[in-house]
Amino acid sequence: MGKTFDQFTMQDPTTQYPGPEFEKQPQPAPGLARDMKPKPDHGETSYKGFGRLAGRRALITGADSGIGRAVAIAFAREGADLVLNYLPSEEADAQEVLQLATKEGRKVLAIPGDVGHEKFCKSLVDQTVEGLGGIDILVNVAGKQHAVENIADLTTEQFEATFRTNVFAMFWLCKAALPHMPPGATIINTSSIQSYQPSPLLLDYASTKAAITAFTHGLAKQVAGKGIRVNAVAPGPVWTPLQPSGGQPQEKVMRFGAEVPMKRPGQPAELAPIYVLLASQESSFVTGEIYGVTGGNHLP
Ligand code: NAD
Ligand code: MG
Repeated sequence: MGKTFDQFTMQDPTTQYPGPEFEKQPQPAPGLARDMKPKPDHGETSYKGFGRLAGRRALITGADSGIGRAVAIAFAREGADLVLNYLPSEEADAQEVLQLATKEGRKVLAIPGDVGHEKFCKSLVDQTVEGLGGIDILVNVAGKQHAVENIADLTTEQFEATFRTNVFAMFWLCKAALPHMPPGATIINTSSIQSYQPSPLLLDYASTKAAITAFTHGLAKQVAGKGIRVNAVAPGPVWTPLQPSGGQPQEKVMRFGAEVPMKRPGQPAELAPIYVLLASQESSFVTGEIYGVTGGNHLP
């Protein structure tokens, strides 16, 4: 999909990728990218790397699909070795990423597991350090989003699970990774436009994204003196399995992206270059920032 298959050719961004109306396409959470119609573009055939992350060692959560997959493909093509984390039920998606990243000649390890548990987060970082010989980049992409219309129906279990996946995991992974990180290392979190413009259907999710924004600002200041940078990306609507697998009601999936000035959702491939920039030394004076990639419904 997409009109021109590289990230450089000049073209009209409003028609570069499909816009609504989309088909209804319910999936159980976490959804699979391979079952989406149309298939998202994660940069599989389009992303060109230039060695901007040569020799870096990166841990990426949520790396099987969506934004995490696009980041994994881009990082591998920029010369980084990778650990890919995802949930065991997503093995089919993860294998596709593993193949693509390994084809770049990089060392790539797949470590499935639930980041909602502190013990697993610690072991994920330990396995990264052991497997790759260290850790220079931590990219927190894993996220849970489940729309609930009425607060009366939002259970404590869901509220807690959303916070565990989106906020606690980020805290545990940062805490475990930082002692291993050399000066020049970077952490990139994944916030959302929801941090600033919460949808009434996403009380728990939007609150976690606001927490991620505040955590990113604060941690950046705490570790700046060590030469470690911490930033976040805040996407607007992006065409990923998070949305049809309960992230939005199906009626909203059909109209997904219509509310932004560009009148379409973003594709994961359009997010990856920002993660690459924030991971690389090119952004050496950038820390504590939240980068919007929103199709026009900008951050405040
Ligand atoms: P996605 O479904 O492709 O990716 C989310 C990933 O999170 C899943 O692939 C899964 O591997 C991982 N995950 C979920 N729960 C987990 C758990 N308990 N343990 C380990 N991994 C777990 O969807 P995506 O849209 O690419 O989401 C990536 C990030 O982008 C999320 O943090 C999401 O909040 C954020 N985001 C997405 C959008 C959007 O419109 N798609 C907008 C703003 C922010
Ligand atoms: Mg997935």
